[in-house]
Amino acid sequence: MQTLELQSVHKSFETLKVLEDVNLRVKQGEFAAIVGPSGCGKSTVLRMVAGLETADTGKVLAGGQPITKPSPDRMMIFQEHALYPWSTVEENVGFGLELANVPKQERRERVQAILEKVGLTGFEKYYPSQLSGGMRQRVSIARALVMDPDVLLLDEPYGALDAMTKLTMQNELLNLWQGSGKTMLLITHDIDEALYLADRIFVMSPRPGRVVETMDLDLPRPRNRNGERFIQLRQ
Ligand code: ADP
Ligand code: MG
Repeated sequence: MQTLELQSVHKSFETLKVLEDVNLRVKQGEFAAIVGPSGCGKSTVLRMVAGLETADTGKVLAGGQPITKPSPDRMMIFQEHALYPWSTVEENVGFGLELANVPKQERRERVQAILEKVGLTGFEKYYPSQLSGGMRQRVSIARALVMDPDVLLLDEPYGALDAMTKLTMQNELLNLWQGSGKTMLLITHDIDEALYLADRIFVMSPRPGRVVETMDLDLPRPRNRNGERFIQLRQ
């Protein structure tokens, strides 16, 4: 179980104070989002949870234990998807399993199963440059999911996609998440996206970032995407 927690986290990059007393808590299985203006430290928070960045002071915990390094239990998905351009879809997706010394046959089966889940069966031998932006992001999600992590960390995954593709991908993400028991922590500067996807939203202030509001949304799915929901929320 991986309850994620930041307790009184402070972080500066040299003289630039980026995070000031950030507190948040996400339970296993929740879909949470962090929203806030550009530069407020959202990616820094996510990178800390991924184990790619350390806090100056305060605690960053998973399941009550300090996060000190990256772990296949917590996989990160980036906006720019960061695929290896010289590797095929199946190589990109299977790379983490190869590093973890998973035997070839099992690797192949797990890659196949995940590609089917994200709708990429038949594209195993394609290179990233031969795919659309949405498909590349599906590869990136498959690459994370194939490790069967408890936690998926998504850093503005749909920021670069057109509106239609974005909506399709958001619905696919919900389908992948529902019933999986996985924790989702998504960063976005798009409040509509957070309201559509998440059950708990942390709102950050401009830099130095801190969590100024936590919203729990008790709204059924599927949700519509108009402002009505937001007004209901505010009643
Ligand atoms: P957000 O994701 O909310 O846009 P970031 O967490 O990426 O914000 O960055 C917050 C601030 O910290 C920005 O001003 C950024 O330039 C700065 N920053 C982030 N990472 C580093 C780093 N490794 N070195 C120096 N400055 C950084
Ligand atoms: Mg960012």
